[in-house]
Amino acid sequence: LALLDAEAIRADFPILARTVRDERPLVYLDSGATSQKPRQVLDAEREFYERHNAAVHRGAHQLAEEATDAYEAARATIAAFIGGRPDEVVFTKNTTEAVNLVAYAMSNAATGGEAYARFRVGPGDEVVVTEMEHHANLVPWQELCRRTGATLRWFSVTDEGRLDLSDLEQLVNERTKIVALTHQSNVLGTINPVRTVADRAHEVGALVLVDAAQSVPHMPVDVHGLGADFLVFSGHKMLGPNGIGVLWGKPELLAAMPPFITGGSMIGVVYMDHSTWAEPPQRFEAGVPMAPQAVGLAAACDYLSAIGMDRVFAHEHALTEYALKHIGALDGVRIFGPMDSDQRGGAVSFTVDGIHPHDVGQVLDDRGVEVRVGHHCAWPLHRRFETVATTRASFYLYNTFADIDALVEGVQEAQRFFGTTGAR
Ligand code: PMP
Repeated sequence: LALLDAEAIRADFPILARTVRDERPLVYLDSGATSQKPRQVLDAEREFYERHNAAVHRGAHQLAEEATDAYEAARATIAAFIGGRPDEVVFTKNTTEAVNLVAYAMSNAATGGEAYARFRVGPGDEVVVTEMEHHANLVPWQELCRRTGATLRWFSVTDEGRLDLSDLEQLVNERTKIVALTHQSNVLGTINPVRTVADRAHEVGALVLVDAAQSVPHMPVDVHGLGADFLVFSGHKMLGPNGIGVLWGKPELLAAMPPFITGGSMIGVVYMDHSTWAEPPQRFEAGVPMAPQAVGLAAACDYLSAIGMDRVFAHEHALTEYALKHIGALDGVRIFGPMDSDQRGGAVSFTVDGIHPHDVGQVLDDRGVEVRVGHHCAWPLHRRFETVATTRASFYLYNTFADIDALVEGVQEAQRFFGTTGAR
């Protein structure tokens, strides 16, 4: 496998050429929050607006036809990118909305009659998540349980930052209706054994939702290989535009699922006092959809596919290995998550003894090194590790070893500045 040429890739990303903070080169290490966009994605979106813009699935004029064709072609490209079919892909605003769509449908099913039996939850039923979830894949399930009387349970996380699967059989049992877990932690980088959990869930008739917000952008993902029933991710984290996300679902499940947002485009027939629903995916796409963003996301998939997701993954693996070695070698620095780079992806969160993570972030920012500080929308996970916040560096295909050197030098500078070098 030939390594990818990060320098050549960088030339495709206009923003990476700019400077920040007194003419310093930009060292962007916050792709876990959102990725930068290549010219090819920006051009695709601009071309849609300049040539084909019209409301999708409305009107019989030429532009409406072209816009609809472009939107549906984008759906096909994005479906193929994760090993699915076009009719299995629902466009949402982002990962958060995609999780809410499923969780809300389940609470809607509680009052929706026999047709929705598969999704019904109520008192005595259980919903299983993990302690390492992003709030986006936690709070909607808390709300589902609150509305229906179901019970929320969760896998805990080991000291090394892996899922504790020792109680898999007890936790996922005949009462479980759905297991919702992240494929890759946005804080620890841990890649979870989704298939093992999914197999157990299916043994007891439970559904499986995979939060792939941090995996689809960074590794080859095949929805069937993972054993997912639903899989969700965001366009903006994978070189695509903001404002578009994806819910992939098994077609027979989507067909049996009540809607989330109601209104135009998602109906079968409308009477004054009631309506019927369209087939999926339209049932879940109320209102004028985000066609330019879909076209941009398809361009992002094409860009990544041309490079090869296995090469993207290999590149980030090499960066992660290098980062774990060099950040890990600093005195007084504690890295969270597995230290074995084979078990994790390119998000490295750490604390520096005696310096608040926000101060670490500030010193790095002064040097043009952009990282994320805080709890990264995973507050319970930080509580689990008895820290209020961490500093997180996260990598993508346009990062280089030099970026990590700049990070390491910045942390050393913070230690000198705060006089904590070697503090324990
Ligand atoms: N899940 C994970 C694992 C994430 O990292 C994120 C984004 N930080 C989300 C969900 C939420 O994504 P979005 O904000 O695009 O809805």
